[in-house]
Amino acid sequence: MTEGTKSIYIGDDLAAIRDQTREYVEKEIVPHASAWEDGGVPRSVLDEMAGLGFFGLRAPEEHGGLGMGALASVVFAEELGRSTYGGFTITVLVHTDLAMPYLTNFGTEEQKARWLPAMVKGQVLTAIGVTEADAGSDVASIRTAARREGEGYVINGSKMFITNGGIADLVFIAARTDPAAKGSRGISIFAVERETPGFKASRALEKMGWHSSDTAELVLEDVWVPEGNLIGEENRGFYYIMTNFQNERLAIMGQALGESQRALELTIEHVKGRHAFGSPLWDKQVIRQRLAARQAEIDAGRELAYRAAWLSDQGEDATRHVSEVKAYVGELANRVLYDCVQFHGGMGFIAETAVERLYRDVRIASIGGGATEVMLDEVAKRL
Ligand SMILES: Cc1cc2nc3c(=O)[nH]c(=O)nc-3n(C[C@H](O)[C@H](O)[C@H](O)COP(=O)(O)OP(=O)(O)OC[C@H]3O[C@@H](n4cnc5c(N)ncnc54)[C@H](O)[C@@H]3O)c2cc1C
Repeated sequence: MTEGTKSIYIGDDLAAIRDQTREYVEKEIVPHASAWEDGGVPRSVLDEMAGLGFFGLRAPEEHGGLGMGALASVVFAEELGRSTYGGFTITVLVHTDLAMPYLTNFGTEEQKARWLPAMVKGQVLTAIGVTEADAGSDVASIRTAARREGEGYVINGSKMFITNGGIADLVFIAARTDPAAKGSRGISIFAVERETPGFKASRALEKMGWHSSDTAELVLEDVWVPEGNLIGEENRGFYYIMTNFQNERLAIMGQALGESQRALELTIEHVKGRHAFGSPLWDKQVIRQRLAARQAEIDAGRELAYRAAWLSDQGEDATRHVSEVKAYVGELANRVLYDCVQFHGGMGFIAETAVERLYRDVRIASIGGGATEVMLDEVAKRL
């Protein structure tokens, strides 16, 4: 383990996951990922990662996983983040940490036995569809609806900005099941398989960053799913979403921390080698102190993330702590990348340097999965 990532929260098992992930990312991702920025992450790469066990960290052992906790998700996400390819990282994390938890946390034993082993093996890739064109931060205002019909449900509606939406084999869809219930009541989660008639990824959206990540608009027109595809209980979906948001936020902030750390390292390397006004840029106190200050903030953010994950692994309600992490690290990653581009000078503005790509990729860290302002209100409610 490197000096910078030592922490009281990280024991030998998590250090081993860090080392294995780092080695894999350095050997198998970094040399190839540039090509994926145009066209997406090849399925063969995802299959290989699944084969090496990376998709099963959080899945229960009886379904082929390792049964680890939120701390493992943060460490794994940090190491994927260090690849400097945010699109690759989010493609994996949406499957392992944003979507699969709907099944592991709330699925019936029958549903877990049916899908989890294939998800761990990478045969079934997943996505999570909550956001709609008119409902993002305000999840309770979604309009996609599911009504009972025969021994199942008919779903109608659309979803916006769905990561892996066009490539997933199965999407967990949030839909309103009780039209009379107000707001957060009356929402349920359904597993919708790609081939189901009426379900289509209508449009791949072009983005500022995360270029290798598939982001789609989904349309559901009279999509019939059997009762067995309702995850957990009817009308409990809002609670499931809020619960899973905790893990989602920790994972994506693990990603932002890994990206920030790697960008800072690349920048320190750059300013130590680059000479201006007769000496390396590193000799300018203003530069090295700014980078040192950012390192201190990353260290603080990492410890906040580990503490929140540890609390969550102890079975405690970590909502305040997770929200603090999301608010703090989401903004921090943007500050770090601003400075990294600045101290790379003109090179930092040139397309496909790692810091140029990361500057675009981290912009979403303070928006997606709970915008900073929404997170700060979650903290404020608990003060
Ligand atoms: C690339 C990408 C991938 C995504 N992947 C997924 C996915 O896989 N699945 C999924 O379901 N969703 C996904 N999303 C959606 C994402 O989670 C939402 O974009 C995010 O929650 C913000 O919602 P919104 O875009 O509707 O913004 P809005 O809710 O319209 O908010 C806009 C801004 O207003 C401010 N704001 C909002 N509420 C408040 C408040 N109460 N107080 C003060 N300020 C506030 C914030 O600054 C916020 O950024 C993705 C989005 C993107 C861009």
